[in-house]
Order: sequence, then structure tokens, then C-alpha cells
Amino acid sequence: MEIKQLYREIVNEHNLHPSHKRNLDNPTMVLQGINPSCGDDINLQLKVKDGIIEDAAFNGSGCAISQASTDMMIDLIIGQTKEEALKLAGTFMGMIKGETTEEEIEVLDEAAALQDISHMPARVKCAVLGWRTMRQMVEELNRQEVKDADVTAAGSSECGAGPCGVK
Ligand code: ZN
Repeated sequence: MEIKQLYREIVNEHNLHPSHKRNLDNPTMVLQGINPSCGDDINLQLKVKDGIIEDAAFNGSGCAISQASTDMMIDLIIGQTKEEALKLAGTFMGMIKGETTEEEIEVLDEAAALQDISHMPARVKCAVLGWRTMRQMVEELNRQEVKDADVTAAGSSECGAGPCGVK
């Protein structure tokens, strides 16, 4: 089978028969991810305990690429630490931008089937929707942890009126 054909079948399979399209009982965090340019709308749910993503699921609707990409992402992040999940997101984003090597994307397993999206700019936002949403959630969870761990330190990172990090 030609490799592109194989990639298409992997994406189709995850779109038609997603393993993680359901609702979690007690999610730690739920976040909606929207890609208006295509109409993709997902609702990502994470259960995080002691820094580990114990379970994850999603609901929503959208094109095959957005749905399959989110399902494949969840396959990868369940059982990982938040840091490992962020690292995987970085590798996936790099792959979509065409900046990674074949060896680097091996960790993405089936999600590597979306590597050709780097040549389809109109579909990039579909492919990264789930990953972008997950990264936002983990970053928010990390912020909450910092706040809980050291309330006095919170004041030291004030960034005034403008957006953080903008110089
Ligand atoms: Zn889409």
C-alpha cells in the first residue's frame, strides 16, 4: 500500500471510529476549542492527577482531520505527564510546520499520518486544534498549581497593562 494511502486510512479510521469520543465522569478541566475557518468545534476533557494525564476524552463536531487528530492525540497523551504531553505537542506542531525529521516524529505514532498537512495550509488549523486546546489546558493547570503552591510568588510575575511577554 502506498504510504499516503495508508495515512489516509489511519485518519479515516480515527474519524469514523474514534476511541475517545465520549464524556469523562469527573474531568479536572474542560475546554472548548474552535477553528472558525473550518467550523471545527471540540470539547476537550482532561483528568489530571499528580501531574499525570490519567484520562482524556473529547466531544464535538468538525472535519475528519480535526476529529481524527484529536482522537490520535488522546491516544498519545493518556498516561503521560503534563510535561511529556507538552513535549509531544511541540513535536506535532513542528511536524505540521515541516520542521521535524523522520526520527523526531516517530514518537507521534499514528499522529504522524498527518505530516502531509504541512503542504496544505488551509488544513493546518484543523490538524492542530486538539493539540492547541490541550496545550492551553495544561498551561492553565500549571498556572493554577503555581498559584496554589506559592501565593506570595504570584505577585512577582505581574505584567502591567499590556499582554504578557510583549516588549
Ligand atoms: Zn477542519
